[in-house]
Amino acid sequence: MANNHLMVVGGHISDAENMGGALMLKHKRAGWDVTIVAATPGEKGHPTLSAEDYLEMRLEDARASGAFVGANVEVMPYKDGELQVTEEATWIMADLIRKYRPTVILTHWKGSMHQDHINTHEIVHRALFKAALPAFRREHPAHSVGAVLYPENWEDMEGYIADVYVDVSDVFEDYLKLLKTHALMRESYASFRYYDYYEALGRTRGALGGFDRAVTLMRPRSMYIYERRAGLLLD
Ligand SMILES: [Zn+2]
Repeated sequence: MANNHLMVVGGHISDAENMGGALMLKHKRAGWDVTIVAATPGEKGHPTLSAEDYLEMRLEDARASGAFVGANVEVMPYKDGELQVTEEATWIMADLIRKYRPTVILTHWKGSMHQDHINTHEIVHRALFKAALPAFRREHPAHSVGAVLYPENWEDMEGYIADVYVDVSDVFEDYLKLLKTHALMRESYASFRYYDYYEALGRTRGALGGFDRAVTLMRPRSMYIYERRAGLLLD
């Protein structure tokens, strides 16, 4: 039987880590495989570096965080701020799903201030269908994902509902180290205090959920896919 596999899909390098990093570490420790996907590198986010120079840094950080988790890392061939919901992007995502065969996918909730995040959400949902249908003949055989859920991301809070609180106390110190594999969260050039936010969010969600540290997930409203059936570790 194939191993359980958690895939976390972000719009930019480090989105998957900041919203899904603690769950990646928790599942990796429990023997799951983990794959990190960035739809774009997020190469335009530096206040002084050119996109070309920042791209190199971001790709290096992505490799470092993948090594820290023990995860596969994939970066789709799109530019920061230019991601479109296209057949091509949908097929690239569907082929990644067929290649890695994730049990569970975590990706952006669509209520986002960032269009790349909204489009990533849409591309993942379109790709589920193309990945699952055997009649589409591709390099890898069809694969049905067991569950899709939305982790908490400061940019995706429009209508976000924290349905599930997951205890991540055991992995939280490593999660903070994982965040710091990214210059975006290690240095102080970003206009948003990522590290402080996610460190405090773990405490806040922990207090609300009755744990030392916790992260939350939102369930899809319109799809009958249940995370427990897919074996996601929620206790
Ligand atoms: Zn982003």
